[in-house]
Amino acid sequence: MKDLFELDKKHFIHPTSSIKQQQEQGAKSIMKEGDGIYLTDTEGKTYIDAMSSLWNVNIGHGRKELAEAAKQQMETLAFSSAFSTFSNEPAILLAEKIAELSPDGLNAVFFTSGGSESNDSAFKLIRHYWKIKGEPERNKIIALKKGYHGVATASTSATGIPQFWEMADLTVPGFVHAESPYERGTKPSIDSIREVIEREGREQIAAFIAEPIQGAGGVLVPPEDYFKEVRQLCDDYGILFVADEVITGFGRTGKMFGLEHSGVVPDMMTFAKGVTSGYIPLGGVVVSDAIHNVLKEKSSGTLFHGFTYSGHPTAAAVALKNIDIIEREGLVANSQAMGDELLKGFRQIKTELNIVGDVRMTGLLGAMELVEDPETNKRFSPELQVAPKVIEALHERGVVCRAVTYDSTDIICFAPPLIINKAQVHMIVAKLHDAVLSVQKQLGDRVSS
Ligand code: PMP
Repeated sequence: MKDLFELDKKHFIHPTSSIKQQQEQGAKSIMKEGDGIYLTDTEGKTYIDAMSSLWNVNIGHGRKELAEAAKQQMETLAFSSAFSTFSNEPAILLAEKIAELSPDGLNAVFFTSGGSESNDSAFKLIRHYWKIKGEPERNKIIALKKGYHGVATASTSATGIPQFWEMADLTVPGFVHAESPYERGTKPSIDSIREVIEREGREQIAAFIAEPIQGAGGVLVPPEDYFKEVRQLCDDYGILFVADEVITGFGRTGKMFGLEHSGVVPDMMTFAKGVTSGYIPLGGVVVSDAIHNVLKEKSSGTLFHGFTYSGHPTAAAVALKNIDIIEREGLVANSQAMGDELLKGFRQIKTELNIVGDVRMTGLLGAMELVEDPETNKRFSPELQVAPKVIEALHERGVVCRAVTYDSTDIICFAPPLIINKAQVHMIVAKLHDAVLSVQKQLGDRVSS
């Protein structure tokens, strides 16, 4: 038998991981099987996948219908190119389906293989749009601090978490950041965007991009009226508004798309993750009719932007089946109902333990903050590694979760599969209670009681 842990250390450079930790401690778990909300590793230990892996396995693991859809499509036509106006049936039908699900007035789709490619594509399409419209000086993108838009070159630059830039000292010009609306009122947050617009030059701003809920930043929920004000501001300045729905799309927040909570329609929407529940890589950009009309009327010659896998027939066939399951099984409504149930559990834990700060859930996207003093929201000192300790305690108890700790926060994120049921929600709550209690005990007298 091959020693997978040794081979992992020797040959596998992991994404967004500590290489030092990998080399010292080996892979955390080598996952072997998935079934519903559960993952089982090579040691035979089963975990609840409380993050849907990377906020993406919306319909849960092990769904044979998706394997069947991939098999059928691969046997018929695994791949053919969509360059030079060649086309294929699954890509056409998926574009139609996404247009049907998207907000009114967004009806045309550019396909990619993931979220980063989708955002990079959005930025290039936006600059192309302004260029052919005769305003090429509109070439700057405003994004938010604490926002996450991916790790390709432009999407890294749009990301508002500096660690992602510092890793290779890489950002490209033309990306500027405004304040995150989290923990700020709407007005100061909108003022911050306006200041950036005025500082950078209003005639140079191409677009504003934001996640409906900032995911990797720590599941940060903006004030309720924030996006209405953003929409108004963008309209006042003639700026395009892009919603990054990579996490929040396809039922995650209890609506098909996250921005629906605000009753606001963007000019462009990027998606990935939940569109295939991670069974196969796929993402894309949906554009408004107004943008599509400009492309149709003014874009001459070849649009020099396209990935080999833009419009991949097998990926599209899997996406169609995944969306069919989301609709057929009522998973958007279940996300709302089970999210409410999970939040009830979080609130109960907060009444019973001393280190629980804010708890929040929007559909099945939520977080629990751990703080030294819940009254004043005083944070723990980062050396105490509170959130990583809770993640470790959860891992021991068979729950896979993720922490956000930059900016001295201790945030535990939750995004279980949308198929989760009440009994399983209660199981997460029980294990979470137990894990947080064990860390609270370790912290001893640092905790106010
Ligand atoms: N946008 C958002 C909001 C994301 O959360 C992510 C991934 N976590 C991305 C973009 C990048 O997607 P990918 O990792 O598929 O490139």
